[in-house]
Amino acid sequence: MSISTYPFYLANRAVHANTDLAVEDKHTGQTAYRVARAGAAEVEQAIAAAVDARQAMAELPSHRRRDVLQHCVDRFQERRDELIEVLIVEGGKVITDATGEVGRLIETFQIAAEEATRIGGEVLPMDITPRAERFWGMWKRVPIGPVSLITPFNFPYNLVAHKVAPAIAAGCPFVLKPASKTPVGALLIGEILAECDLPEGAFSILPADREASAAFTEDERFKLLSFTGSDEVGWALKARAGKKPVVMELGGNAACLVDADADIDHAVDRLTFGAFYQSGQSCISVQRVQVHESIYDTLRDKLIEKVGGLKKGDPRDSDTFIGPLISEGDAERVVDWIAEAVDKGARCLVGGKREGRIVTPAILENVDRDCRVYDNEVFGPVLVIEPFSDFDQALEIINDSRYGLQAGLFLRDIDKMHRAWNRLDVGGVVINDVPAFRVDHMPYGGVKDSGLGREGIRFAVEDMTEIRMLAVRNM
Ligand code: NAD
Repeated sequence: MSISTYPFYLANRAVHANTDLAVEDKHTGQTAYRVARAGAAEVEQAIAAAVDARQAMAELPSHRRRDVLQHCVDRFQERRDELIEVLIVEGGKVITDATGEVGRLIETFQIAAEEATRIGGEVLPMDITPRAERFWGMWKRVPIGPVSLITPFNFPYNLVAHKVAPAIAAGCPFVLKPASKTPVGALLIGEILAECDLPEGAFSILPADREASAAFTEDERFKLLSFTGSDEVGWALKARAGKKPVVMELGGNAACLVDADADIDHAVDRLTFGAFYQSGQSCISVQRVQVHESIYDTLRDKLIEKVGGLKKGDPRDSDTFIGPLISEGDAERVVDWIAEAVDKGARCLVGGKREGRIVTPAILENVDRDCRVYDNEVFGPVLVIEPFSDFDQALEIINDSRYGLQAGLFLRDIDKMHRAWNRLDVGGVVINDVPAFRVDHMPYGGVKDSGLGREGIRFAVEDMTEIRMLAVRNM
């Protein structure tokens, strides 16, 4: 098999140096691509170029920023099949997950193209006091300057899109470090951006190892650090970020609740999707479910049947649902965590076996809440179910976690919906669907160890711009 090589992008240009980063096909374990790897010197050049591009980017008219983003939308559509194929290979995704992510990549850029033309301000009534009677006042949003962007392995397109597209919409030059396990998706976005008429230095996309990455966090010429990844890495980087603001989109162990009067078949369908799509490698994968005791046995039996029938195997077959985890080490970790729970009294009702990088989707009950499958982020195909009798206590159990990204509740009672929305300590509550539900203009992010700040294009644009006031005295 021939191995394609990909350049990195430094100050808008493709650079084919040091193509020594091997990217595996996550299904076969073979090297599929080679990627140019940047060192500290290239990171420094990228930052200097971004600083030089700051004014030109800030002055780029919004119709041109919109056109750049629209060009990307059009080119993603033209190259859709190729983008899907790369995602199957480097991300280990099955074709339905890969197709879904490329669809979201296109939507995210489309939303950003529209948002680029809506970044306005306000005319302020100044005559609220005699002191300002003679003034008129306005404020507008101005781009914050060069931004540092770091992304994780599990959505190689769409999580890059959630940083890159608002940066272009806002008029901020950016330097992006994609995940070393899945850098090719970001480089394909770079290839398309390089076709656009952007000021020189507007963007750099640099796969870089840890030693070369310190500047992404520490360099004061960056005016924002926007990081998506694990809570362990994210909070460590925040501590080194200095004065710049940070956005942290981190991990979770998302919970669901299924109330007594919920539509059980609908809940089973959505829980199966929410817990096991991408083999559970999503920050909002369902990990813990509270089920009303009156429907617990019925729901459990239906879940076991459905999950036990999920197909694994050929990633290009549209019936295949379960693909590999990102590494064999991760697959081993997940089965170790299941074994720990079983040692402490849990019952594994289905799945939980490792075949290479694939872990068969597992449902556990009677799990001690101190076990890692319960209180850590599994990031694998594991679902823990528990019966509850009292709705308000179940909300407290959902809140009893160091994480708080999103929660999903299947219920019909509007009063309970309000209580959940008010009391759950999370960034978003989803009713009659799973926490894995996300549309790309929603404000999205977590509280507690799950992060700080919100993405969703408009909200990312707010972080990448700052308010500048104009007060004019009429003479
Ligand atoms: P990770 O934290 O290991 O890596 C994330 C990124 O940080 C990668 O690009 C990595 O190379 C980089 N990195 C690691 N150490 C660094 C350092 N010292 N300096 C600079 N960069 C460094 O995460 P991962 O394994 O790639 O992704 C999985 C994690 O991401 C999970 O915890 C998941 O929940 C989280 N995630 C969160 C969201 C969200 O929106 N909240 C979305 C997707 C994934």
